[in-house]
Amino acid sequence: MGLFGGRKTVFVDADILVIGGGMAGCGATYESRYWGRDLKIVCVEKANIERSGAVAQGLYAINCYMGMQWGENQPEDHVRYARNDLMGLVREDLGYDIARHVDASVHKFEEWGLPMMRDPKTGQYQREGKWQIMIHGESYKPIVAEAARKAATGVYNRIMVTHLLMDQSKANRIAGAVGFNVRTGDYHVFRAKAVIVCAGGASHIFKPRAVGEGMGRTWYAPWSSGSCYALPIQVGAKMTQMENRIVLTRFKDGYGPVGAYFLHLKTYTQNGYGEEYEKRWYEDTKALVGEYVDHHPVPTCLRNHALLKEVAAGRGPIRMVTKEAFQDPHKETVGWENFLGMTIGQAVVWASQNIDPKHINPELTTSEPYVMGSHATCSGAWASGPEDCAPADYQWGYNRMMTVDGLFGAGDTIGGTAHKFSSGSFAEGRIAAKAAVRYVNDLGKTQLQVSEQEYRDLEKVIYQPLENYRVGRNEIVAGTVSPSYLLPIQGLQRLEQLMDEYVGGISTNYMTNAVMLNRGLELLTMLKEDMSSMGAEDLHQLQRTWELQHRLLASESVTRHTLFRQETRWPGYYYRGDHMKLDDENWHCFTLSRYDRKTGEWAMEKAPVHHIID
Ligand SMILES: Cc1cc2nc3c(=O)[nH]c(=O)nc-3n(C[C@H](O)[C@H](O)[C@H](O)COP(=O)(O)OP(=O)(O)OC[C@H]3O[C@@H](n4cnc5c(N)ncnc54)[C@H](O)[C@@H]3O)c2cc1C
Repeated sequence: MGLFGGRKTVFVDADILVIGGGMAGCGATYESRYWGRDLKIVCVEKANIERSGAVAQGLYAINCYMGMQWGENQPEDHVRYARNDLMGLVREDLGYDIARHVDASVHKFEEWGLPMMRDPKTGQYQREGKWQIMIHGESYKPIVAEAARKAATGVYNRIMVTHLLMDQSKANRIAGAVGFNVRTGDYHVFRAKAVIVCAGGASHIFKPRAVGEGMGRTWYAPWSSGSCYALPIQVGAKMTQMENRIVLTRFKDGYGPVGAYFLHLKTYTQNGYGEEYEKRWYEDTKALVGEYVDHHPVPTCLRNHALLKEVAAGRGPIRMVTKEAFQDPHKETVGWENFLGMTIGQAVVWASQNIDPKHINPELTTSEPYVMGSHATCSGAWASGPEDCAPADYQWGYNRMMTVDGLFGAGDTIGGTAHKFSSGSFAEGRIAAKAAVRYVNDLGKTQLQVSEQEYRDLEKVIYQPLENYRVGRNEIVAGTVSPSYLLPIQGLQRLEQLMDEYVGGISTNYMTNAVMLNRGLELLTMLKEDMSSMGAEDLHQLQRTWELQHRLLASESVTRHTLFRQETRWPGYYYRGDHMKLDDENWHCFTLSRYDRKTGEWAMEKAPVHHIID
């Protein structure tokens, strides 16, 4: 392929375009076909939907299942649980909507062949915890992908979507997307009436604990590059709760899951001297967050907080006590199987470090921060809620439509709704798709206009890093440092360092303040300026460049939201040193932002938190 010649432009027309074929994208593709029998439904994915997204390696538990058929939990219970864990701030309408539909999606997974574990006595799904059920989930993603493949008019794998396209005939209306094939280099122009963004959250925006050869060893999938935030931000969609980054307590170095250990194997933690430590930090935590510390279960961030304080007091490392549970051969088997279906790397790390959890209590650590809207935090786009239960100011159109007409989202993309996990993300994809089909039907014969000028201009921008490299490469004889271009890895490390040092990463123990955030914004601006000098050696590096662009925009959003919220709402996730306390009087609200791509300005505002469940 030549750099600017010999590359094909592939045009694809669709009624509904689903960007990202992970859990939410597969749900959206599947459901679009159910309601839109005659519609053209296209799913575009930067990897291959067979094994893409955060569930690529498989899972051992489905973390969001009500069990309504057995009277285990009701949707209202789940809203209360998520609200408590997020220190009071969730979109209860959206959470309720997912909770009332999620069981049906899990039943579909079983129907499609996902092996579920069952309690031998009751025949019910085997519970790991109140909300989690256990599965033999190594093939979870291929099973879900098959349903999407069969439903789609076409699945376009290996296409990295870089930008959304707007309708030229009506302001603030979506009309498609562009991207490139990461294997052939072909340019893809998708024209669509409705777009559902399901492109996953963001890892590697903060410097990871493991660097150098170990930099891929993060908790969150390294390929999650924040596209689900950057794509809507670029076109002016409002975002919410972007400051609400997640920090996970996990097994050190391998980041293996701890849920089955705590909940099913009944393990517990202690400090380096074998002492219980969480109670020790009760008064300290209460001084920061008041009565939230007395809630049950203790919010995830507050448990992180106790761990961080104990380590800072010089009594680390924190260990999980596994030696007792692992004396039971059944529990030992469950402990190891937990990794086999999900994070084999943890078993490998333990083997390499001579850790047998039957004889040694393994260390826990807190991860670097990530941004995601489907796990225990709720960053993402501000979306219209369900007609029957969303308060009036949360409703401006179709369910899960963002503040841009025809632009929908699900999973990590949508903000305000933590704890949806794999099953809830799939269910939310289905919810968004049903609404998107209605939107397309309501459009009727309306013709959308995509500007040739716009997608041709974007084409130049998208491929420019290849040209920068080709020309700049001549200026050096060896090595990777060039006077005229910046490689994606260099840009990524610069981003990670500044986010880490100024926006509350591991090196400051998650601490930041207005002065640091403002300096972070200055450095982000300089990095943004330098992005026009990115050099990409090949298509793989071109993909890395665009992933970095998306991470950068998501990072700026995180930084601006963190600056805007003048309180420490979630100690253990991050701290505003200049506003160390939770402040319900002024900040029991959502933070919203809107980016204006013409001016580069961000507008920030507050939105009320409506409690619709008692
Ligand atoms: C480490 C980890 C452990 C987890 N454990 C559990 C668990 O035990 N149980 C549970 O129920 N849930 C678990 N979850 C949560 C679950 O994986 C997520 O909630 C779910 O995958 C979110 O769905 P999604 O579709 O939003 O994102 P994903 O499933 O990550 O899908 C995003 C998709 O978008 C694609 N994409 C990204 N950018 C682009 C682009 N620019 N162009 C085209 N395609 C793009 C990606 O390749 C990917 O396929 C875990 C998550 C993580 C990270």
